[in-house]
Amino acid sequence: MIGPVDSHLRKQGVDVLLENSVEAFGETDSGLMIRLKSGGTLDVDFAVVCIGVRPESRLAQESGIKCGERGGIITNEHMQTSDDNVYAVGDVVQTSCFFSSTPIQIPLAGPANRQGRIAADHIFGRDSTYRGTQGTAVVGIFGMTAAMTGLSEKSLIRTHTAYEKIYIHPSDHAGYFPDAQQMMLKLLFDPKTGIILGAQGVGTTGVDKRIDVLAIAIQAGMTVYDLEEVELCYAPQYGHAKDPINMLGFVASGVLRGDQPIIQVDTLSSYSAESLLLLDVRTAAEFAAGHIPGAKNIPIETLRERVSELPRDRKIATYCKVGQRGYYATRILDQLGFDAANISGGFQLWSNYSAHDNNAID
Ligand SMILES: Cc1cc2nc3c(=O)[nH]c(=O)nc-3n(C[C@H](O)[C@H](O)[C@H](O)COP(=O)(O)OP(=O)(O)OC[C@H]3O[C@@H](n4cnc5c(N)ncnc54)[C@H](O)[C@@H]3O)c2cc1C
Repeated sequence: MIGPVDSHLRKQGVDVLLENSVEAFGETDSGLMIRLKSGGTLDVDFAVVCIGVRPESRLAQESGIKCGERGGIITNEHMQTSDDNVYAVGDVVQTSCFFSSTPIQIPLAGPANRQGRIAADHIFGRDSTYRGTQGTAVVGIFGMTAAMTGLSEKSLIRTHTAYEKIYIHPSDHAGYFPDAQQMMLKLLFDPKTGIILGAQGVGTTGVDKRIDVLAIAIQAGMTVYDLEEVELCYAPQYGHAKDPINMLGFVASGVLRGDQPIIQVDTLSSYSAESLLLLDVRTAAEFAAGHIPGAKNIPIETLRERVSELPRDRKIATYCKVGQRGYYATRILDQLGFDAANISGGFQLWSNYSAHDNNAID
């Protein structure tokens, strides 16, 4: 998901240095000098250091109030600390994850405000409770938007939570209305129940709206099947009759129902050429302009006539630009008895993934 952000930053003239870190700062006549781990130096006017947030909980610790491993003041659902008469809220506290009651510290203004109201309510006798932090966040980068809600794939892996994921690349509004902008959405959900666990979006317009809808869906404990049914406002300049939210529901539900088996870009390298055939179903011109190495090209329009060219002793990973034609191909091949799966996110996601850190999972 960070691929488009990285590319966008570079297009704006930003040098993005990865696999590097700052060793030291020094003052120069005109500003600052930064010494890098790689050995080089940078001369800058000023530096903004964004290296995370640590709670300043010394007062609580010295008072014997319990704090977590990362220093956050441990609170219960009423925002009481280990001393019932002392409440704590905001960046300094450790709360529970909305989903699993895993302890978490997420320094955001929304949770801090809600916690403040809940603590005040409880002090004055109301039984208000905090539902846990969901981590709904958004950031703007030179006109681009990156947003997320709920659990990331990284945190699901860390907590050994089972999940399935899909990627889609819809436009923010109907393509026939001017200025439609493509976005990338990722949805994480429970592979058995379909309960939505988390989502991330990157694009320009309309990303915050979709992530906010998904934030509510997560709060409500909704499943991917619910997303198929949600009714959202539509006129061509605002969205789609099949909104990206519905599309997430269609694709994720299709995966869970077994209608559209998928294969993930980050697993492709674990297959040998003897066990997997990559099948590009885009046009010959699209294929010529770039494709996954080793892929065979059979445009979707000719697939039924050319199935005899395909092996039955190997898995077939179909793909197109973003996933739709790859899905049709998977349906055709599945009904003809082939073991086919569609590469989630298609060539666009693969290009993104291979252009950036192949080991990174966002
Ligand atoms: C640059 C920046 C941008 C941000 N942007 C966003 C954003 O876009 N969206 C978002 O959700 N969150 C954002 N945040 C995070 C958000 O500001 C915090 O999560 C939120 O302010 C936390 O509220 P709080 O009440 O816990 O702490 P604070 O707002 O930090 O309030 C703590 C207060 O306690 C006071 N204080 C500290 N020690 C003592 C003491 N010993 N005695 C008395 N008073 C004391 C401090 O002076 C301060 O006024 C941003 C943070 C920063 C720094």
